Amino acid sequence: RQRIGFIGLGAMGLPMAKNLIKNGYILNVSTYRNRTPVDELKELGAVEQNSVSELVSESDIVISILPTDREMESVLLSGEVLDQLTSEKILIEMTSGSPAMMKKVNEIYKGMGVRVLDAPVSGGTAGAEKGTLTVMAGGDAKLVEECKPIMEAMAEKIYVVGQIGAGKAIKAINQLLASIHMIASAEALALAEKLEIETDILKKVVGNSSGASWMLENKIDSLVERNFNPGFKLNLMKKDVQIAVDEAGNDKLPLASYVLDLYKEVANQDGERDFSAIGKKVLV
Ligand code: NDP
Repeated sequence: RQRIGFIGLGAMGLPMAKNLIKNGYILNVSTYRNRTPVDELKELGAVEQNSVSELVSESDIVISILPTDREMESVLLSGEVLDQLTSEKILIEMTSGSPAMMKKVNEIYKGMGVRVLDAPVSGGTAGAEKGTLTVMAGGDAKLVEECKPIMEAMAEKIYVVGQIGAGKAIKAINQLLASIHMIASAEALALAEKLEIETDILKKVVGNSSGASWMLENKIDSLVERNFNPGFKLNLMKKDVQIAVDEAGNDKLPLASYVLDLYKEVANQDGERDFSAIGKKVLV
């Protein structure tokens, strides 16, 4: 049985790790700040390691899904992790980070003979729980094939999108649209409320017309309830739009740049709430 070391047991990582245990993998975990996910996973059979370096040393495959580039760098390129890497190990990197940081990690790992997959995900916490995520995999096609059973324990669709960095790139493009569609859906709801159009009508009619979007279909109910519990934290969406705007270069994405400013404004108060809290800009 393959031993997987899982780093980043948050809103996404915890349910993804549970699905790996369910599928028979040996799962190594360690505590960063919050002990709760480690305790929960131990009850399901995970093995607790005393540190991230022990976790890497005891695993054949390391999976990471951390908040941002900053944590990717501070964890994956830390001395304690690098010291434990050997050429048989594989890293499946699932953070929504930047293409540049992914390439930096890959260059250093490749130099040590470690094979790397750039494999961010989409599908939200519900998809992580149900094991129905979409993986956007960049890297060597043979390695994607080799890692497929592991990814299939967590995901329904696995797309091979290009080389290392391409996974992070397509994810940033998805997030560019998702961030805009979220505020657009909130504006649609604000107008529907003002014009006394019922939410069910909005969902059914626009949902089957040219204005349809995933956000309108999936997030409208929580907007109606003004329920902004994460889910997907607004700070993380802000980080994703920033990646898209940075990768495009100055002023190349006028709408995304404007929307980024809106997310930044709302993040001051509501950064740790669900990204749908951007709706507060327009909903009364
Ligand atoms: P969370 O903030 O819920 O989880 C982040 C996890 O990383 C926490 O368990 C945290 O531990 C851990 N962590 C932070 N720093 C370190 C560190 N230095 N060493 C070890 N562990 C660390 O984020 P999500 O799970 O929501 O998101 C993770 C990534 O997945 C992000 O890039 C996000 O954009 C992306 N994503 C999120 C989706 C969602 O719906 N939530 C959907 C698709 C992608 P602790 O709690 O102890 O601080």
